[in-house]
Amino acid sequence: MAEAPVLEDTERTTGRVALRKNIAAAMALSGAVRSTLGPKGLDKLLLDDEGRTLVTNDGVTVLETARVEHPVARMLIDASSAQDRAARDGTTSAVVIAAELLRNAWHLVLQGVHPSTIVRGYRIAEIEAMTHLESIAFEGNEDDLVTAVRSSLAGKASRGVQTRLADLAMEAARCVERTVDGNHEVDPTRVSKIIAVGRPATDSEIVEGLVLQKRRAHPEMIRLVENDTIALLDGALERRNMRGDVTFQATSPDVLEALRRREISRLLEDVEAVAAAGVKVLAVSGAIDDEAHRRLLDLEIQAFRRVPSNDLDLLALATGATVLHHVDALRAEACGTVLESRSHLIGDLHHWTVRGEGTAATLIARGSGDEIAEETSRCFDDALGVAAHLRKDRRLLVGGGASHVHLARHLRRVAEATPGREQLAIEAFADALEVIPRALAENAGLDPIDALLDVTAAQAEADDGGARIGLHLDKREPTDLGEAGVLEPLSVIKPTVSGATEAACAVLRIDDVLWARLEAQIPDDIQAQLDAMGGQDD
Ligand code: ADP
Ligand code: MG
Repeated sequence: MAEAPVLEDTERTTGRVALRKNIAAAMALSGAVRSTLGPKGLDKLLLDDEGRTLVTNDGVTVLETARVEHPVARMLIDASSAQDRAARDGTTSAVVIAAELLRNAWHLVLQGVHPSTIVRGYRIAEIEAMTHLESIAFEGNEDDLVTAVRSSLAGKASRGVQTRLADLAMEAARCVERTVDGNHEVDPTRVSKIIAVGRPATDSEIVEGLVLQKRRAHPEMIRLVENDTIALLDGALERRNMRGDVTFQATSPDVLEALRRREISRLLEDVEAVAAAGVKVLAVSGAIDDEAHRRLLDLEIQAFRRVPSNDLDLLALATGATVLHHVDALRAEACGTVLESRSHLIGDLHHWTVRGEGTAATLIARGSGDEIAEETSRCFDDALGVAAHLRKDRRLLVGGGASHVHLARHLRRVAEATPGREQLAIEAFADALEVIPRALAENAGLDPIDALLDVTAAQAEADDGGARIGLHLDKREPTDLGEAGVLEPLSVIKPTVSGATEAACAVLRIDDVLWARLEAQIPDDIQAQLDAMGGQDD
């Protein structure tokens, strides 16, 4: 067989040209989200194919929604998504820092520093950065933690809603806190959410336990069960239908009637089996036939039908019950306990609230309209992610770029003590971190250079090292931002810096880009960046 020609339909760029194009792509991407950074950041209006709109201020949402094909831009988006998964916050910062690290690397490349030297310098800086950030972090008290959660919502909702959601997120995180095998665990997936339209977002609330939008299987069924047994059935309580693969001939109507009776009696046996296991609350994923209903009612068993499987899983976590696939498997060990199982109305919708010994909490996300309630629920998710981290690791840093400036000052001292060209890379790294305070100032309509100089000078003059001093965006001057309530978890800032370094170094290591010919065009905005960047193609 003849060998296929190598790289036939492929466009190839190598060396510096490849690097320049890759860096331009990263910068174009960062340019798209930079203006959303911080409390004064602007919103983006996203439109999809079907004309649906979403207004957001969240970096990762913008990036994940945009249709980006450039592989390097995708690497940065992945870094931002990884940040989202790891910390639920800091997604814009991660991309903006990564792009700045690359931009500064490009300036060094133009001066003749090899990319692999830059990568080595960046790695040294990253390790130093992690240690330094830990050294300036402090343990937050309960109030500090709520403040940090509120800071994480900066720019996302009104001040009142931020405050309310921060409180609710901490409350929910407390509800689902538990110790598993000696490990302290806070699992945000144990917090479920329901949307209730008609009241302001600030009336949102957390209910301990699980609240599901469900009515009882029968209106006369018992409303409240306390301290009793629950069973979860992923199946139905209905007459078994004749299967399509069974054919038989009924010789008289009596035969059919006899069959029907037998099915009903089987069904009732199932109900008796449930009662015999001591079950007082029953949730099934399928239907419940009328005959079964009536019997359940007589037996005073509270029953809910058509409970979606994922809700059954949540019920299992909350009550300790096992989800069964058939009544035959029903044994005491498979049942769980409800402290309270209540059927009630929220607004004019029927709800079922279950409190068990397992941990669970539910957010009732409110809003005057659908969109606002949905937005409340999305903001809560972010706040909850941050709150869950904070209950495990209470270490905080001062935000608003204060920690970044302090870290940059530290790294410049490290650079001085580092021999070789890596020194230049460490300095470039320090400069890149300052993109955060610069962008925050810029978005607040301040002069970024003056702002940065002021903060750096104020930090240098402070007796305690100045790690808490940053730019107050309203007072427009260097201020103790810790006192002003701008706090961020160490667990958010650390991965933004390390994730950005990771992504930047990965890009710097590429020196060959092979494009399938079909996609070998450069989008206009990236071309414009390329033209602005300077540096010769070689
Ligand atoms: P990210 O996606 O990176 O979290 P945000 O838009 O949430 O981006 O902005 C976060 C940045 O805004 C952080 O650096 C944070 O410290 C800063 N920030 C939040 N609130 C304030 C504030 N009141 N004053 C100054 N900076 C703030
Ligand atoms: Mg944020």
